[in-house]
Amino acid sequence: MKRIAILGGGIAGLAAAYELAQLSSKGISIRVELFEASPRLGGIVETIREGGFVIEGGPDGWVSEKPWARELAVELGLEEELIYSNDDQRKTYVLIDGALKAMPDGMRMMVPTDLAALDASELFSDEAKRAFHCEVGRAEELRKAVPEHDESVAEFVRRHFGDEVLTKIGAPLLSGVFGGDVTQLSVRAVMAPFVALEREHGSLIAGLQAREAKATKKTPIFTTLRSGLGALIDRMVAAIPQEWIHLNREANGLERDSQGWLVRTSSGVEHFDAVLLATPLHVARALLEPIDSRSAELMQMDASSAVVVGFGFDDAAKAPVPSGFGFLVPPDSNSLLLACTFMDQKFKDRVPAGGRLLRAFFGGRSAERVLGCGNDEIVAIARMELARILGPLPEPQISVVRRLPFSLPQYAVGHLERMAELDERIRGLGGLWLLGNGYRGVGLPDLIRDARAAVRASC
Ligand SMILES: Cc1cc2nc3c(=O)[nH]c(=O)nc-3n(C[C@H](O)[C@H](O)[C@H](O)COP(=O)(O)OP(=O)(O)OC[C@H]3O[C@@H](n4cnc5c(N)ncnc54)[C@H](O)[C@@H]3O)c2cc1C
Repeated sequence: MKRIAILGGGIAGLAAAYELAQLSSKGISIRVELFEASPRLGGIVETIREGGFVIEGGPDGWVSEKPWARELAVELGLEEELIYSNDDQRKTYVLIDGALKAMPDGMRMMVPTDLAALDASELFSDEAKRAFHCEVGRAEELRKAVPEHDESVAEFVRRHFGDEVLTKIGAPLLSGVFGGDVTQLSVRAVMAPFVALEREHGSLIAGLQAREAKATKKTPIFTTLRSGLGALIDRMVAAIPQEWIHLNREANGLERDSQGWLVRTSSGVEHFDAVLLATPLHVARALLEPIDSRSAELMQMDASSAVVVGFGFDDAAKAPVPSGFGFLVPPDSNSLLLACTFMDQKFKDRVPAGGRLLRAFFGGRSAERVLGCGNDEIVAIARMELARILGPLPEPQISVVRRLPFSLPQYAVGHLERMAELDERIRGLGGLWLLGNGYRGVGLPDLIRDARAAVRASC
């Protein structure tokens, strides 16, 4: 019987355990132990359901284009629970000089597909609008200028659209998802589809317009679950043999010997044939350091922290927000917030009838500043910051705070090359897989795809 250890019970570790449970039920002889340091499973994924509000403590959905989270949800019997973003009301605002300015319709990240909507927008100056229009005519020049090596998101966006577009939407969009600094983030790792468009079309605008003209059906941008993403966790946990799961069991040592792997946890040392290492990146790195220092070096990355504050109001009219999904705050703005999502407008069924649900985010340096504060203080700061932007807010019925230190690893320039070398070294060790958001993508679908693929390769 093959013995397999999973270290870490976030979405990555659980997806691996679920896949192993499927193999076990098909008669493959395996014994699995999942060690989770905390008292609960799910890691960053957590749904708080209270007073009719469905509040996500971490991710609130996934990008519909990537099929792997949906496939898992359907397999787990959650098809009826799938709901989609209200794309007919999709509008995102950017905080500029203290006021919310709407991004033009038809933007795909920082690339417009509708130049008429762009022209009517009050977000960009005439100069930035001219830069967008000119980008189409510069297609040949841009294609010839594609660098042979990786570059930063900042260099890439500046080459196409200039500084204003980078500062007003490039930087806040990317720091919201990757918690990163656009001058450091690798464009090939975090914006691969746009890099491919540039290679083919030169102009990103022309490339996207051509792709959208060919698209036959429009899928809503985001998918989530009616009762919250916690349902995905609960269903996976229910499908995993309970004797496999060990909560409050921190893995604090890993060793290789001629027989396989030794895992030391808070309750002793056990021997395994294979290890799926699904802890946060900095923990995985510390565990690997004594085994292969070069691997640990390749895993050295900055990771940014996040603090999420959810506010549930029973009367939406008393907490008015503009129509749309929420707003972004460019770095260097006069606000501690990184973003805010108007959850009841982004997805249905998040609130009791007539209610409002806002999720405010602190990221990067401001998250680090508030991480150490008490919940009441964080709630007060978030409310004050929101009120400065949205106007006075009433006392919320519910406030929820979640601290997520080092939760978003930053994929810096050269990330793909470093990961290729890391993969090779890890393969060389034999019987070890690295899972989670430090390597091949941060979104839930990527993590689920990777974890399931690793299990198939390990058995
Ligand atoms: C604020 C925020 C919003 C996000 N929004 C979205 C979104 O809307 N859509 C989307 O697709 N993605 C989103 N993401 C990204 C996504 O949520 C994460 O990348 C993903 O949840 C990470 O899962 P994981 O299993 O890799 O890590 P984690 O969830 O961090 O799980 C790791 C687990 O390992 C455990 N652990 C730690 N140390 C040890 C140890 N020594 N031994 C044993 N166990 C240990 C931890 O307790 C934890 O349970 C968001 C991320 C953040 C931070």
